[in-house]
Parts: sequence; C-alpha cells; structure tokens
Amino acid sequence: MTNIVLFGPPGAGKGTQATILKDKYDLIHISTGDVFRYNIKNQTELGLSAKSYIDKGQLVPDEVTINMLKAEVEKNPEANGFIFDGFPRTETQADALEEFLESKGTKVHAMIALEVEDNILVERLLERGKTSGRADDADEQVIRNRIKVYYDETAILKNYYQEKDRYFGVNGVGSIDEITERLSIVIDRLMK
Ligand code: AMP
Repeated sequence: MTNIVLFGPPGAGKGTQATILKDKYDLIHISTGDVFRYNIKNQTELGLSAKSYIDKGQLVPDEVTINMLKAEVEKNPEANGFIFDGFPRTETQADALEEFLESKGTKVHAMIALEVEDNILVERLLERGKTSGRADDADEQVIRNRIKVYYDETAILKNYYQEKDRYFGVNGVGSIDEITERLSIVIDRLMK
C-alpha cells in the first residue's frame, strides 16, 4: 500500500493534482472537502452540521471529520493506497490518522506539499469561485480566513511529518503538467 497526504493551503491545487495522480498510480482519492460538500448537497445530518463551519471558512470539528474519514477508508478495503486531500488539517487529525492506519498495518508514507505564495492563492480561489459554485470561494474575506486557519492550525503538520522524515515540498506554481511531474518524481521514489 502507498498512502500519501497531499498537503498545502487552500488553492494550492491539491484537488486538481489528486484527480490526476489517483488514475496514474491507481490510488483512492479521499477529499474531506468533497465529502462534506456531497453531504451538504444531499442535506444529510453530517452536511447540516458541517455547513455553518464551511461557510465561514472554519474547520469542521475534529471528531466529526475523523469519523467521516475513517468511514471513507473503510469503504475501500481493496485499495492499493490512498491520496488524502484536505486531511489531516490539525495535529489531532494527524494523530488519529497515524493510529488508524497503524491498526490496519500501514501508515502515511509521505506528506507531499504544494508550496504556493498567499497572493497567488487568493487570486486562484477568486477565479475558481466564478465557476465552482462554492460559497467559500466567492467571498474574499472567507478565502482569507481559510488561509489564516491554514497557517494557525494546519501548517504545523509540516513539522509533524518532517520529524518523521516523511515530508516532501514541491513547487506548486507552474502548469498542471509541470506540477504533476514534480509530484510524480517523489511518488515514483516512494513506490520503488
Ligand atoms: P477543502 O475542499 O479542502 O478546501 O475544504 C473545504 C472546507 O471543508 C474547509 O474550509 C473546512 O471547513 C472543511 N474541511 C475540509 N477538510 C477538513 C478537515 N480535514 N478538517 C476540518 N474541516 C475540513
């Protein structure tokens, strides 16, 4: 199994790259943001409880998010591995993921981060907001809050995986193909 955390601030391109990489490497892509949006659209209990946080650009509470992530993994018992996109976002989530994967005899093999400057992120997200239909992409204040939350609560996970020698940073600015190539160099090495 190969399990990868695709990491980076909102707008870094995690979703775009995960969609390409899951086919290239036959991995299951789990985007916690996508799962929340699916649940909001279908007005499930989970969706209703997550919506108020997401609309403000805040994190959904850990317990809800962790249980959801575990359920998504459990749906794919035959997987060759996973690309986690948007998870973990807090140290509690990272600990839960370590423990959960360990109980399955596996682990996070690498956190690969897409590194992009803040001003480019805001530009990209406002542009995406024109077509994504996402309320949290439409408002510059909410976008800035999401980036702030990333630095306040999520960015520390770089150290978390660096200490385990499992952190890899990749330049997230360039064409989609160029960035896929940079990520592939890291993944090919992991899979060797
Ligand atoms: P994303 O699609 O990854 O940008 O996520 C959109 C929103 O979903 C975030 O701004 C959070 O409100 C929520 N969300 C997604 N993943 C997580 C997570 N791992 N922990 C808490 N909230 C999350």
